Amino acid sequence: MLLSEKFEDVIHLRMSREHNGQPLYWTSAFFVDGILIDTGPSYTAQELKDFLITHPPKMIVNTHYHEDHIGGNHLLSETFGCPIYASQNAIPLIATRPRLHPYQELVWGYPEPSCPLPLSEEIETGKYTFLVVPTPGHSVDHITLVEKERGWFFTGDLIPGERVKTIRREEKIEEIISSIAKLRKIKTQRMILFSGTGRIFFDGRKTTDMLLSYLSDLKDKVADCYYSGLRPAEIVERLFGGEDPRRILTQDQFSIENLVQSIIEAIESKSLS
Ligand SMILES: [Zn+2]
Repeated sequence: MLLSEKFEDVIHLRMSREHNGQPLYWTSAFFVDGILIDTGPSYTAQELKDFLITHPPKMIVNTHYHEDHIGGNHLLSETFGCPIYASQNAIPLIATRPRLHPYQELVWGYPEPSCPLPLSEEIETGKYTFLVVPTPGHSVDHITLVEKERGWFFTGDLIPGERVKTIRREEKIEEIISSIAKLRKIKTQRMILFSGTGRIFFDGRKTTDMLLSYLSDLKDKVADCYYSGLRPAEIVERLFGGEDPRRILTQDQFSIENLVQSIIEAIESKSLS
């Protein structure tokens, strides 16, 4: 299942595996002036290829290595003869067949390994210039593309929205906060966030304000619980009333406890330094 919509010069492509005519989970890619930013899951690679016949990409850029962002890499680069670019940290991860949890296999499927080239600091497309900003936190290799004149920020999975509840074990809340702060320092007239989950935040400053304030408040609450001797699972119970069902659905990959644990790790590393 593939849907497309246009915002200014950006084509927003929403993709999902279908089950009984219903989408399982939407993932987004964006096409702008010859660049395809992310390629969705492998299950929708053929549909994306068919769509792009009339919009052949000159290059593919991956925001990060996760399977729902690189699934079309191999097929599209073979079909259109276009290079793939990713951050240096992403290259070995994209070139290797990943180990997926059963739910990931069901929803997105295994991406065919592909061989990206390292991104430079800027990408020129003719009409636009995109800054490549390293924004780790969601994953070690994550980057954001920023078109300063237009105020477009292609943020991959860095900014899920005004709040975050469950995260993967590899996510680092302190790095996410630093990466968002780095993006906010880039001087632009406006800040429109194109996120990998498909949400477009037209007032990115407000969205990031709300997210940073939510995280700051949560950090304080977790710190209080931590210093009063509560363990992570007890903190989840105290602050959230229990774990999120996504923990079971994702075989422990996404959980509130990961979020709490990431905050505790930041507290402990600060108290050591
Ligand atoms: Zn991701």
